[in-house]
Amino acid sequence: MPHNLLLAFDIGGTKLAVGIAPVARFRQTGTFDALVKEPIPLPGTPDVVTQRLVKIGRQLLAESNGQLAGIGISIGGPLDHLTGTVLNFPHLPGWRNIPLRQQLSEAFGAPAGLDNDANVGALAEHRLGAGKGAMSMVYLTISTGIGGGVIVNGKLHHGVASGAGEVGHITVQTDGPRCACGNHGCLETMASGTAIARRAGQALADYPEQGAVLRQMLGAQSAPTAQQVFAAAAAGDQLARMLWEQTAKYLAIGLGSIIHLLAPQTIVLGGGVAQTGEGLLNPVRRNLANHVFYIPLASIQLLPAALGHDSAVIGAGLLATELLNC
Ligand SMILES: [Zn+2]
Repeated sequence: MPHNLLLAFDIGGTKLAVGIAPVARFRQTGTFDALVKEPIPLPGTPDVVTQRLVKIGRQLLAESNGQLAGIGISIGGPLDHLTGTVLNFPHLPGWRNIPLRQQLSEAFGAPAGLDNDANVGALAEHRLGAGKGAMSMVYLTISTGIGGGVIVNGKLHHGVASGAGEVGHITVQTDGPRCACGNHGCLETMASGTAIARRAGQALADYPEQGAVLRQMLGAQSAPTAQQVFAAAAAGDQLARMLWEQTAKYLAIGLGSIIHLLAPQTIVLGGGVAQTGEGLLNPVRRNLANHVFYIPLASIQLLPAALGHDSAVIGAGLLATELLNC
């Protein structure tokens, strides 16, 4: 049987995904023959998670026609993509300096690639999604945190210590709240879903006479979600409009820095907060005009992500195809 299949693994904070597909077709379509998604097995330590990934991978291979050619792995934490080591995965216990690429490569007897979820998400959007055909692209995923990936001359740019693309930690307000990274006023602490909820909770406490629509949506919840803030703003709630406009402003400040550094052909916004589509993109475009003057904004496409929730596992699969190109 020919070595024609790839396995894609995505490890998230609460769930994992494993997909199998023929390499040649996957490169064109990003579609899996089978895709298994399930909660992270408890207690979530590296050995337990890795054993589960190997078991699912072997089951998928046993049910498929063909032999494994390569493996792609995505995980949402700092790593060294050159050595294939997960440096730290703070969502789960015991994930420090884990040689995950070597472990899965040895378990399956096939070459493997490892990268973080935002980088492989960027790869997926660039090869098959909103950034298809762009020579340079920056991808931001805006959900509970903000991650990113950078494509330069058609390839992922990793930088020193696999550190490129950490767009969530660009400073957008020097006296802003302290970020988990140690800095103050990171984009992530001002414009992520978590940050929007925090700012909204604070605004509702500061302005007890305002935000009637938002308060109604909130019910017994303690803080509104980004989607609720957007929905209340769309319904005309002035407090929610102010919160949403602030979000767009902080994103535009962060994107302004990215544009001045890279002038990418395309910027793709993904993640839960960006699911509001043009509801977020329009005010971000409007705010960008206050921060970018040297570079014609009309020449930079700002687009919503096209691939949705599965972009990390699709990106992991594409990482396997990249590996098999060389
Ligand atoms: Zn930070």
